[in-house]
Amino acid sequence: MKDKDLLRYSRHIMLPEIDIEGQRKISSAKVAIIGLGGLGCSASIFLTSSGVGELCLVDDDVIDLSNLQRQILFSESDVDKGKILAAKESLSSLNKDIKLIAQNLKITASNIDKALNKFDYVLDCTDNFDTRKIVNSYCFKTKKILISGSSQGWKGQFFKLNFHRQESPCYECIFEDLSGEDLSCRESSIFSPLVGIVGSFMASELLKEIVSIEKFKPELIEIDLKSNKFKRLNLKKNECCKLCSKV
Ligand SMILES: [Zn+2]
Repeated sequence: MKDKDLLRYSRHIMLPEIDIEGQRKISSAKVAIIGLGGLGCSASIFLTSSGVGELCLVDDDVIDLSNLQRQILFSESDVDKGKILAAKESLSSLNKDIKLIAQNLKITASNIDKALNKFDYVLDCTDNFDTRKIVNSYCFKTKKILISGSSQGWKGQFFKLNFHRQESPCYECIFEDLSGEDLSCRESSIFSPLVGIVGSFMASELLKEIVSIEKFKPELIEIDLKSNKFKRLNLKKNECCKLCSKV
């Protein structure tokens, strides 16, 4: 590791659980973030500042004035620009040493492999159930680590799925089929700091996974910022799941 990086990441390296070896792992990790809304903006900032090796950003949306309330990568001059290019510009000014890949793309079952095949970790920050199902199925089949988050109103949730583990549930084990349901924030209320907190938790779960700090324990964490309540729910594989119970 170069002297400049030893200084830049010194506060990570000083943590005994991370150390130089852990920071090296972070610096060689290949991560994809799908969806550059509030969660994706927040998670991408901490992953960029932490020095992940490659960070791929996937979204096909354009920045709207109403996004600025919570999508902290963007500024007033970015309104009407494509999210991906504005995000890449903003993140590269934070850390020029990491490889940023911008894909102006809506994920579908037919393009997901080409878009994500070189990445080992996927953060699902999307806003609709159909894309979440496609991402879940792809990560399950290719055994990628999937961290999923969502938020609405005052409440948010996140969880990590590790398909290297036989006992890991998949997204469809946890949620009933809501195909066609739009979880978009466009018309939904959302408390601004909530996406910062949930996105930061997603980045935290990912960094801990990369440096192998935590033992795998499938659980969903729900946060209610109105009352500051945190709830942990154990997640179990659904033996009748259409996707993951067949194998
Ligand atoms: Zn399943």
